[in-house]
Amino acid sequence: MGGGSYSIGVDLGSTAIKMVLVKSWEIEWSRKVPTAPGQEALALELVRGAMDERGLSEGDIGGIAATGYGKKLMSRAGVTVDEISANAKGLFRLSGGRCRTIINIGGQDLKVITLDQAGKVADFKMNDKCAAGTGRFFEQAARILDTPLESFGKAAGSDAEPAELNSTCVVFAESEMVSLLAKGVPKERIIKGLHNSVARRVANLLGRHRPAGDGDIYLDGGPSQNRGLLEALEDELLTEVKVLPNPQYTVAYGAAISAAGRKDA
Ligand code: ADP
Repeated sequence: MGGGSYSIGVDLGSTAIKMVLVKSWEIEWSRKVPTAPGQEALALELVRGAMDERGLSEGDIGGIAATGYGKKLMSRAGVTVDEISANAKGLFRLSGGRCRTIINIGGQDLKVITLDQAGKVADFKMNDKCAAGTGRFFEQAARILDTPLESFGKAAGSDAEPAELNSTCVVFAESEMVSLLAKGVPKERIIKGLHNSVARRVANLLGRHRPAGDGDIYLDGGPSQNRGLLEALEDELLTEVKVLPNPQYTVAYGAAISAAGRKDA
């Protein structure tokens, strides 16, 4: 790759590979594909697609950085960045320096990252031992309830009385859902209860990691596109939680600006 003014960030996540093309701190292009074997080839297809669509040559690209759990698989990346730092860097920049707490919900894990005033990682906690509350959990719930994931937000935002779902383990939560369905409990109520139980789980992980005084809480990762989850979280935390317009790409963006940082940022 040359010394050009574009940089590329690739986030090789457990569930989706995300790529952004960045110029002068702005996201110019973004796309994702499901994670599958042959991750580097999938990532390079995204890179090639971005360059073709934008009419760019290798000389236009100043750097490529990889992040996410599959980052080491991408040998073409000049830089690898750990996903916590990439998330912090990306969200701090995109929030205009306002973010102090990140709740990242991925396909298979939950993370809470706290930032200092300069945007450096002050602390983080991760739960990757249990799928409850992750994107995969919601996908599984959508299958059990035979309801598209995209309509979860609407059901969760309805006036229905939430059903009680108390299991903290995904396997038990699934059987709880099945037994509620068998008892004839309306799906809306189960979906609402499901969101409340995930919000409680996130609040537990967050614990004392809430910004004191100034500073905002942001939710990112793929599942943050579900408005129902955001609303349930705000109700549980009794505070505003913000979501950026493209919340699944903040980690890839953080990697891209790290690649740019090698040169001109
Ligand atoms: P990872 O980095 O672990 O691969 P992502 O942050 O890319 O995770 O999130 C992937 C998850 O996002 C998937 O489990 C998927 O179900 C979920 N997801 C993607 N788009 C949406 C959406 N519009 N609403 C709810 N969940 C979504």
